[in-house]
Amino acid sequence: MQTHFTDSQRIAPGIRSAEAVLRKCVHCGFCTATCPTYRITGDELESPRGRIALIQDLLETGAAPTPLTVSHLDHCLSCLSCESTCPSGVSYRLLIDQARELIEEKYRRPPFDRWLRALLAWLLPKQAWFRAALVAGRWSRPLLRLAGRFSLRIDALARMVPGEFPSASSAIQPGTYPAEGTEIRRVALILGCVQGVLAPEIDAATLRLLRRHGCTVVVPPPAAGCCGALPHHLGKGAPARAMTHRNLDAWRELVRVDSPAAVDTVLMTASGCGSHLKDYAHLLPDDGDAVELARRVKDLSQLLDELAALTPLRVISGIGAGLTLAWQSPCSLQHGFNEKSAPIRVLQACGFEVREPLNPHLCCGSAGTYNLLQPEFAERLGRDKADAITATGATIAVSANIGCITQLRAKLAVEGDRQPPIPLLHLAQILDWATGGERPAALGNNK
Ligand code: SF4
Ligand code: SF4
Repeated sequence: MQTHFTDSQRIAPGIRSAEAVLRKCVHCGFCTATCPTYRITGDELESPRGRIALIQDLLETGAAPTPLTVSHLDHCLSCLSCESTCPSGVSYRLLIDQARELIEEKYRRPPFDRWLRALLAWLLPKQAWFRAALVAGRWSRPLLRLAGRFSLRIDALARMVPGEFPSASSAIQPGTYPAEGTEIRRVALILGCVQGVLAPEIDAATLRLLRRHGCTVVVPPPAAGCCGALPHHLGKGAPARAMTHRNLDAWRELVRVDSPAAVDTVLMTASGCGSHLKDYAHLLPDDGDAVELARRVKDLSQLLDELAALTPLRVISGIGAGLTLAWQSPCSLQHGFNEKSAPIRVLQACGFEVREPLNPHLCCGSAGTYNLLQPEFAERLGRDKADAITATGATIAVSANIGCITQLRAKLAVEGDRQPPIPLLHLAQILDWATGGERPAALGNNK
């Protein structure tokens, strides 16, 4: 694609890297076929190619974005399905990230929009406040439901407040947890923010699973409390960068080659957060520790797949017999990590039959805070995904990202009014159970 930046614009490193990406795009349009918002609307400006043209215009003119441009860019899920499809290797994430920051800087959103975005960026990474907000949300649910009749966003907020959630004391504590038997790997398990409040049992299952399979697990104390993905995707560049620096300063000893505390693998069990840690290499390319950290980041499925290649998983004989799982691959895993097969392999290694829902490449509409900010698209995508999961005929659904799990539990629960809901678990929980851990409470007594 031709670009028209001036020499003075090219002095900025951000513009230089954006121009390199823009020049790779040949306008072929292959990406439109796999873009969730284009599939729904059929509108070119709701496609990756259309958005790339809008972003190019924003960057070249330096003008303030119009409400229409902002709306088309806000509708983007940052699911990166377009990156997986693009034959020219266009790094769309670099463009949309720059555009989001530019919008934040140059565009004055309507007051409620501004307030909601600021609230989400401030609240979600702070576990104590987030927990307090959920308690308040639970008590005021009837009021929220009433207000939700006048605002889809408030309705989406009300629906996302869980009926119950675990106490803070059930979270695992920082420390070093030795491997059971011979140590094969040293793994840093980084605890996240939202998942730690909504489902601390996921990290607890991961800890048991990894120790059982020869991993010494180091759980570092919280640093910034969030990997930075939440403010990053909201276009709030300064707080996101501050979190990245704070985290990295706290974790340097985990990844320095000569450090006695060094680990082989860095893991976050929410694939969205893990994928963001991998992006530290692009966010701080001049920091050797950031690049090294990103190199060691793996998804849980990739780590288990590697361990299984060394020594068979300790599967309880017959546990998977007769059980069919629907594997819902989060976008952050299949497009961010570029990993599609490892989760299926490890589930099959445990004896489960695994089915993928129709159109597995399409986003479920969770996408960080997207389901709260863009409830119309999120509702449609969530329903489509829940229907596709139900259509597999599976008895249990499995995913690897707390955002997808929260979104799809809400959508499957409505399905459950007509037929029994399908329990939806994190990959760590099902693998822990299959290899000797507790039966997840969500499975009830059904085999
Ligand atoms: S990131 Fe997803 S929603 Fe955004 S343009 Fe690409 S495919 Fe479409
Ligand atoms: S597939 Fe790649 S090269 Fe083709 S229009 Fe989309 S981004 Fe551009």
